[in-house]
Amino acid sequence: MTPGIIRTVTGDIEAQSLGVMLPHEHLFVDLRGPLAPGYAEADPDMVVAVMRPYLAAIEALGVTAFVDCAPVGVGRNIGVLRRLADSTTIHIVAPTGTYKQGFIPASLLDLSVEALAEVWVRELTEGIEGTDSRAGFIKVALSDDGPTAIEVRNLQAAVLASQQTGAVVASHTIGTAAARRELDVLERAGHNLERFIWVHAHTADHALHVEAARRGAWVEFDAVGGESWHPQAALLESVVAFIEAGHAHRLLLSHDAGFYDPSQPDGQPKPDGIRGYTALFEQFIPALKTRGVTDDVIRQITVSNPARAYAIG
Ligand SMILES: [Zn+2]
Repeated sequence: MTPGIIRTVTGDIEAQSLGVMLPHEHLFVDLRGPLAPGYAEADPDMVVAVMRPYLAAIEALGVTAFVDCAPVGVGRNIGVLRRLADSTTIHIVAPTGTYKQGFIPASLLDLSVEALAEVWVRELTEGIEGTDSRAGFIKVALSDDGPTAIEVRNLQAAVLASQQTGAVVASHTIGTAAARRELDVLERAGHNLERFIWVHAHTADHALHVEAARRGAWVEFDAVGGESWHPQAALLESVVAFIEAGHAHRLLLSHDAGFYDPSQPDGQPKPDGIRGYTALFEQFIPALKTRGVTDDVIRQITVSNPARAYAIG
C-alpha cells in the first residue's frame, strides 16, 4: 500500500492504484535552450502522431504511468503533454523546476530562493502556464562540475517547494563528485533525502550508490536500453550489485528515452532517432531474473518504488 496521490497533468490519482510506472522518460525535449528561435514550439497533433505508437507499445506491456522529465529550459510544453495524455490510458506526470546553468529562462535567473520556490509551488498546486494541469514533481539539474552558485540556489528553492508541497525533487546529476556535493547541499538545506531522486546515478560508483541509499535518497539507473549512453552489461552489474547490497527499496529503473525533437521536421532526434520505452520489459528485467532477482523484487522496483517516490502527501 502506497499512501498519497500522484499528480498527473490530467488530475490526481491514488498512488496505490497504479501499476507499472516509468519514473524517467521524455516525450518532448528541446535541447537548443530557451533562447533559440522557435524554442519548444510544435504542432501537438504532429507530436501525438509521432509519439503515440511508443506509448501504445508500453500500454500493451501494462505500463500505467509515465514521468516526463524535461524541465523548463529544455522544452517543457504543457499543451503538448496534455494532448499526449489525452491520447493514451497512461497517466503522465510533468515537472516544475528548471534545467542547469545555461538553460535557465531569463525570467527565473534573478529570483531569490524564496521567490523561485513560490513559482514552483504555484505550478505544483495551481497549474502550469495558465492551465489547470499541475506539476507532479520538481526537476532540477547540475552542471557536470556543479553545483554552480545558481544551481545551489535552484536546489535550495527545490527544497523549500518540496517542504511546502510534499513533491519529490529529482536532479540530473552526472558522476560521483557532483552527486556527493549535491547530497551535502540538500542535507545542509534541511532536506529529507527520501524526497530526493538522484537522476543518472549509473554514471557514478557503487560506493556512492550505497551511501546515497543509506542517506535515504532514491538511486535512479535510467539508461536502460541505451547502449550508446551506457553499456548495458555494466548497467546490469551496477543494478545487481545495488540490489545485492540490500537497497532494492531505494532503486528506480527507467530508459531516459523518447526525445521528440521540435528542431527536426520529422521530430526525430539526431543521430539515432527516437528510442522507445520497452527495453526494460523485453531485455533488462529478463536479464535481472537470470541473475536471481525475484518477481517480488521486480514488482517492488517497477510498481511500489516509483509510486512511493512520486507520491504527494
Ligand atoms: Zn532525462
